[in-house]
Amino acid sequence: MQKSAFSATLSVLVLVAFVVNASTPPKTLLERVKESGELHVVTRNAPTTYYEGAQGPAGLEYDLIQKFAEYLGVRVDITVRDNLNDILTQVEKGSMDFAAAGLTVTDERKNRIRFSTPYQYITQQAVYNRDSFEKRPREISDFIGHDIQVLANSSHVEQLKQLKVKHPELSWSETYNSDSSELLDMVARKLTNVTIADSNEVTLYRRYHPELRVAMNISKKQALAWAFNKGADDSLYKEAQNFFKHLKKTGELTHLIKRHYHHASKFRYTSTNTYLKNVRKRLPRYQSLFEKAAMANKLDWRLVAAVSYQESLWNPHAVSFTGVRGMMMLTTRTARQLGIKDRTDTKQSIDGGARYLRKMIDKVEAEYGLKEPERTWFALASYNVGFGHLTDARMLTRLKGKNPDKWTDVKEVLPLLRQRKWYRKTRFGFARGEEPVKYVEAIRSYYDILNWYLDNGKPKIAERSILAFKSSAL
Ligand code: GLU
Repeated sequence: MQKSAFSATLSVLVLVAFVVNASTPPKTLLERVKESGELHVVTRNAPTTYYEGAQGPAGLEYDLIQKFAEYLGVRVDITVRDNLNDILTQVEKGSMDFAAAGLTVTDERKNRIRFSTPYQYITQQAVYNRDSFEKRPREISDFIGHDIQVLANSSHVEQLKQLKVKHPELSWSETYNSDSSELLDMVARKLTNVTIADSNEVTLYRRYHPELRVAMNISKKQALAWAFNKGADDSLYKEAQNFFKHLKKTGELTHLIKRHYHHASKFRYTSTNTYLKNVRKRLPRYQSLFEKAAMANKLDWRLVAAVSYQESLWNPHAVSFTGVRGMMMLTTRTARQLGIKDRTDTKQSIDGGARYLRKMIDKVEAEYGLKEPERTWFALASYNVGFGHLTDARMLTRLKGKNPDKWTDVKEVLPLLRQRKWYRKTRFGFARGEEPVKYVEAIRSYYDILNWYLDNGKPKIAERSILAFKSSAL
């Protein structure tokens, strides 16, 4: 008797559960994201995806993720994974809402995940060091017998496997503990002969290492896209598709890509001759503005002038795709902080730049306790890469048993912020650490030459490059 009462109760419960279930279908992923107000995205720390820039988090994927979150009206929670396979697994398991990690759409991967519409196209490129080969390699077979290192689980490995069908002797080693930029760095330092990298990575990286050469494209045009879970619930995926459609229609996507891949234009290579021509022709127009701004901020006007030349070549209309403008190339954010209304106004820009430099110098003195001349070089580096990364570099300098208060020591360490082995020990992570080094060195040269010019009156013009970064790659 008791038993049947129990089973009757159970049946009622089951029935109720069934009815409740039937009338309220489970929430879709999109609904859950909107309800919780949070989007969980997995990415990787790289120059083409997500990194800490001078003004805070940056990278094309980072920007796209932010825009998508805005579109949905939610916040973002970003998780960083080092390994490409980990990234895909997170999506497969559903522990992340999606992956935005510069992922190449490949057939193998399509079995595991659902790709969004592409947001960018790349090719895979075989990259070698000009100094390691006597003759330019033209065919993939020219690499047979050479040390090729590629990223494990990458689209590059998939591609090499395909090529191996035609070239059975082709072999390579796979590394788990780095990313493509690090592999490119190894080729530049001749620690390996050849690597494969996406063309967008090569574009960014070659500027620092002109000895790197692209031998050939080893793939056709390939798409980069976001990766979603393949399950039945495609609600978030569909919303992302709408989002990309909107981004393409408004031209915003093209703009974003330009912004991320044209930032090299901020750095220019120039010869002593051009510089001196500008010292004679352009500088007189702005000299009194530099002097006034420098005086008001207790700075050497020649230093302010040198910074401005590095930033804009003394062109008040200078614009870069990264969104910086004017004589001192201020970002919107910096201009706003400084209360500047019009960045393209010469006087306002110079004033703002000088004030900002003063702030940086004071900050470097207060936080690091540095005196001249170090203080100025550190302040300039921070102007370029951001205070957080500079502090990271100082920490690493100490770790390496060198002196974090010496620019010459920190300058050796800054480029390491590009290597995972080092940047993973830091608070702010990846940075294009060689840029502040080149930046500071260039300004020092401009400053020195200006002094020399002003002291001597008539310089002897020698046709030589003045910058420490002697290549024309910038
Ligand atoms: N796009 C490459 C891939 O999806 C990744 C490149 C890299 O990690 O540097 O495999």
